[in-house]
Amino acid sequence: MSVGALRIGVDLGGTKIEAIALDADGRELARRRIPSPSSDYRAVVEAVRGLVAGLEVDLGATATVGVGTPGSPSSATGLMRNANSTQLNGEPLPADLAHALQREVRVENDANCFALSEAVDGAGAGRGTVFGVILGTGVGGGIVHAGRLWRGPNAIAGEWGHNEMPSRTGTALADTLCYCGRRRCIETYLSGPGLAADHARSIGATVATLDAHAIAALAAAGDRAAQETLARYAERLASALASVVNVLDPDVIVLGGGVSNIDTLAANVAARLPAHVFSDRCTTPVVRNRHGDSSGVRGAAWLWPSRSYAGAPD
Ligand SMILES: [Zn+2]
Repeated sequence: MSVGALRIGVDLGGTKIEAIALDADGRELARRRIPSPSSDYRAVVEAVRGLVAGLEVDLGATATVGVGTPGSPSSATGLMRNANSTQLNGEPLPADLAHALQREVRVENDANCFALSEAVDGAGAGRGTVFGVILGTGVGGGIVHAGRLWRGPNAIAGEWGHNEMPSRTGTALADTLCYCGRRRCIETYLSGPGLAADHARSIGATVATLDAHAIAALAAAGDRAAQETLARYAERLASALASVVNVLDPDVIVLGGGVSNIDTLAANVAARLPAHVFSDRCTTPVVRNRHGDSSGVRGAAWLWPSRSYAGAPD
């Protein structure tokens, strides 16, 4: 098997690093997973090198390598920025991985990898413009148009999570401070921790002890406060996505990340979206992802070949 026939994707997560090998048709051939080295950047580079080398020995072939990360390489400097795994920030990850693996390695934001995976053969397959949304520890997004990842000159396209939360949904917004230094970022209300904090505030608790999964279970069991929290969340998500629709008008919005596992969420947001969009009609589908936790690692593999990619990292 030659380079190009086999694709390896690597997902650098906060708790684990996962690698997958796909054949030319996107079938999974092998997968490996290790815990993330907690704080040592050089150990992260070495861990990725080791995972790729192990898969190539298993499969008896060399592969293209794409890597999904929190944050992304700056198009100006090639250095990582915006990563919540802060040991990556300021480091030349694409160059160091290329040196360690002796080939070009494409490094891309993990939400972009999610969007690409769902556009290639997931819930957005066959659609012209796909907006992929991550609702997890953070809130991110990625845009795929005509099968190509849309990065933009600042490599920031799709990052709606650090826009300011629209405030006209009829429910008062707590004044939040985001880790990025800005106030009232969408992420502080619509991430998993943001949802948990909103629920805690609504019931007068000082500490958020219930996560998104627990709040959804309470709501399903008839708990009024949990139901109201999920209704506020759906309304805020619809309102925040409406500004994306007004600018991009995607053919489909695909939800990913842990919060998207709430059964009723996608349908509730789709129903609420038209009220916030500046159009006489809004038929934009809002759907759950198809590949679940594998979307990030599959999308990293799909960073090759170039037909599914708008350009190599600078
Ligand atoms: Zn922010």
